[in-house]
Amino acid sequence: MLSHLECARCGREHDANAVQNLCHSCASPLLARYDLLRVARPTSENSLWRYRDVLPVFNPDPAFSLGEGMTPLVPLRRIGAALDANIIMKDESLVPTGSFKARGAAVGVAKAKELGIKGIKMPTNGNAGAAWALYAARAGLRSVIAMPQDAPLITREEVAASGAELRIVPGTIADAAKALADVDLFDASTLREPYRIEGKKTMGYEIVEQLGWRVPDVIVYPTGGGVGLIGIYKALQEMRELGWISEKLPRLVAVQATGCAPIVRAFVEGAEESTFWEGAHTGAFGINVPKPLGDFIILEALRQTNGTAVAVTDEQIEADRAECARLEGVFLCPEGAATLSAVRELRKDGWLQPTDEVVVLNTGAGIKYPGIRL
Ligand SMILES: *Cc1c(COP(=O)(O)O)cnc(C)c1O
Ligand SMILES: [Zn+2]
Repeated sequence: MLSHLECARCGREHDANAVQNLCHSCASPLLARYDLLRVARPTSENSLWRYRDVLPVFNPDPAFSLGEGMTPLVPLRRIGAALDANIIMKDESLVPTGSFKARGAAVGVAKAKELGIKGIKMPTNGNAGAAWALYAARAGLRSVIAMPQDAPLITREEVAASGAELRIVPGTIADAAKALADVDLFDASTLREPYRIEGKKTMGYEIVEQLGWRVPDVIVYPTGGGVGLIGIYKALQEMRELGWISEKLPRLVAVQATGCAPIVRAFVEGAEESTFWEGAHTGAFGINVPKPLGDFIILEALRQTNGTAVAVTDEQIEADRAECARLEGVFLCPEGAATLSAVRELRKDGWLQPTDEVVVLNTGAGIKYPGIRL
């Protein structure tokens, strides 16, 4: 059961029964904390709600669910052989709205509803806005969504069709955020809203449960705002505290595009935070985030697990996207393909061994990106 919210930076506790955004002392993201002594094993539900004891919603209303979660782990044997690596893909293309953002939206919207919130606003690179607008429609919440004008067209159409108010903005997600300053609704943007991460962390629970309650050696994640990576790290820590897994955690790898790699730069420099990436550009829109709010938590997750950060080019991403479709019959989203490009790099420089069991996240459906040239 949810007990309170805790600042990821200064540790200050916040009341989880009130509507919260950032820490009242230091304006950092808040993390949900649970009474872990009272957590039961997962239920038999075929969705992320099977982990309800470590989710923040006290009474999840099944009417708001679209069946999110419990996506398959798919071995990629042929591309693994080509890269001389042992690769398993967690395939998030199969969740409602076609990206893993639905996990965050399902839990975030359900919690907003439980807290009595009437409407949300959010800047997005596309998939998060689409997922939140559609889940908000299902739960009967208003939404106002702002996205960069070159975000994938389909996500625009999903938002517009949901009845949300859509604002198209020149520039990046940072500019989209500014375009919402006048909107007086709950700010559900990445990590300013404490519960989206709880939905995303279920990827970590699922990977471990689906492997038979053990961890892989490495998890490779395409990192934009980093919520998925922070979520998986949080899930691993919770499971360790619960005694569901032993001490050793998988090494976590953040993948970014060379056109927007603030986390890679900060990791290489040994910095605790990232600095704003000027002129950010990549066709892998979901990871085009010039300065993630949770950068210090991402970097902590990488260092605490002996992980690393890798930047890959758009050309390599596109080549690996084609190769994966040809060898495996899997049409990845560009962000998902970036994880294969990273495995390629990490095998080359020896960071990865052929025997390492590597789980890569395909965070969305390739068919959401028609006609894109990276
Ligand atoms: C949002 C998004 C990402 C990055 O997710 P974060 O958790 O914000 O780092 C990766 N891939 C896709 C398809 C996305 O939509
Ligand atoms: Zn704080």
